[in-house]
Amino acid sequence: MLLGHFGVAAGVKSRERQLPLWSLMVATQWLDILFVPLLAMGIETIDDAPGTDGGYGEAIIHADYTHSLAGAIVLCALFGLFFARRWNRRAGLVLGGVAFSHWLLDLIVHRQDMPLLPGNLGGFSRVGLGLWESPGVSIAIELILLFVGCALYWRAARSTIAVSGSARQRATLVTGLMLIAGLLTLGLDLAGL
Ligand SMILES: [Zn+2]
Repeated sequence: MLLGHFGVAAGVKSRERQLPLWSLMVATQWLDILFVPLLAMGIETIDDAPGTDGGYGEAIIHADYTHSLAGAIVLCALFGLFFARRWNRRAGLVLGGVAFSHWLLDLIVHRQDMPLLPGNLGGFSRVGLGLWESPGVSIAIELILLFVGCALYWRAARSTIAVSGSARQRATLVTGLMLIAGLLTLGLDLAGL
């Protein structure tokens, strides 16, 4: 689930015009951005799901801090707070919310590997609805999120900007680039990279 997150960013952009697209893109990936250095340090890890070769969605992700429910709430609140201070309250609320949407989408696809508390404190059972076990459905949902998000963005961008030809062309170009980047991401994901 990478591409689905980007679709959310594009869709929200169509409603929250004042927020730059990059801030929404960063928001949807915030938890994974923090995951990367922890992965490099070996604090969080990825294993192949039992009986798989680690392809699309065939992973058990031990992101016990960044993707624990409590950890994600705190990290997304900090993210929102940063932009609330820099820009305004509304920007902070929207970006914090979009950042947390990452956890909710991950909850749908992950195989029961997301703890409630950081480091799986208390040993509660981990959560994850495991849609990755049906890769076809999971890929379809990711594609739908991407296409719907891009379509909403494209429509909003074309309807609000001045009717100058170059601005319209730019809206189409940006939408096209988002689609290509999204599909490329899925391609890499499918290739297991
Ligand atoms: Zn994630």
